[in-house]
Amino acid sequence: MSSVLITHPAFLKHDTGEFHPERPDRMRAIDHVLAGPPFAGLVRREAPLREDDTTYIRLAHRQEYLREVSDAAEHIVSGHQSIDGDTVVSPGSWEAARRAVGAGLDAIDSVMAGTAANAFCQVRPPGHHAESQRAMGFCLFNNIAIAAHYVRAKYGAERIAVVDFDVHHGNGTQEIFWSNADLFYGSTHQMPLFPGTGAVRETGVGNIFNAPLRAGDARAQFEEAFRSRILDPLHNFAPDFVLVSAGFDAHYRDPLGGLRLVEADFEWATHSLTEIARRHADGRIVSMLEGGYDLTGLSQSVAAHVSALMEAGA
Ligand SMILES: [Zn+2]
Repeated sequence: MSSVLITHPAFLKHDTGEFHPERPDRMRAIDHVLAGPPFAGLVRREAPLREDDTTYIRLAHRQEYLREVSDAAEHIVSGHQSIDGDTVVSPGSWEAARRAVGAGLDAIDSVMAGTAANAFCQVRPPGHHAESQRAMGFCLFNNIAIAAHYVRAKYGAERIAVVDFDVHHGNGTQEIFWSNADLFYGSTHQMPLFPGTGAVRETGVGNIFNAPLRAGDARAQFEEAFRSRILDPLHNFAPDFVLVSAGFDAHYRDPLGGLRLVEADFEWATHSLTEIARRHADGRIVSMLEGGYDLTGLSQSVAAHVSALMEAGA
């Protein structure tokens, strides 16, 4: 079976303004690398606009918040509107945000139907900072948390894990998962750093596993933290489905983070997660793009990540 790549040109039309790090060129850089011969075997699909998406968005976000985002994003006709200090919407944002959610739902449908081995969703805006009732950190809807709720609601899967190796802590996913023991959230991230959450003592109902790293940390510290604080508890959790918040801003070239990971480190982490998925979840794993702001570091790291997914699916 093949791995699936889900993306859409509409992600270029979420306009964050000049000099914003979360910019359309991120998609172009990834497109360029994934057009290469090593990725000829990827099945490519367009991220859909789904009529049922708000039903599932509401499983992770409050109704009033959904209305707030749609009022801001659906009706803006030009320019930008800030809905948080660093989160803006433009005329193309509503479609992009909905297709980003749709990519995750479609990826899950493909994996559950057995038509794809696994999937990578190349989307923007990212999602893991968006809380149940708050936009934050470039994120409008929490794509990965919505996907987690979807696989439970639609397919009756019980235990869903999200593993997040973005350099920033996924405060939104943590908040949405906080009191649900069937939803596992494990994160490596730099601390102190935006958004300020992610301490080891933040444990939810025993379902939150934070593994903070210090600026300057590289493979050795990352691997130790990832193994002991995330992979070991994840193995005990025995997930029915594994989701990945795949941010690549822990790369040493990234301007927003201070960790020193390289492409091979993301490949190792991905391989570790596909192994857990193979042992517990019949191989079911879906990854969604979060951050990554150096175009070379981002695109090369995505290549390593997708290669590991393809290898697991082959
Ligand atoms: Zn990030």
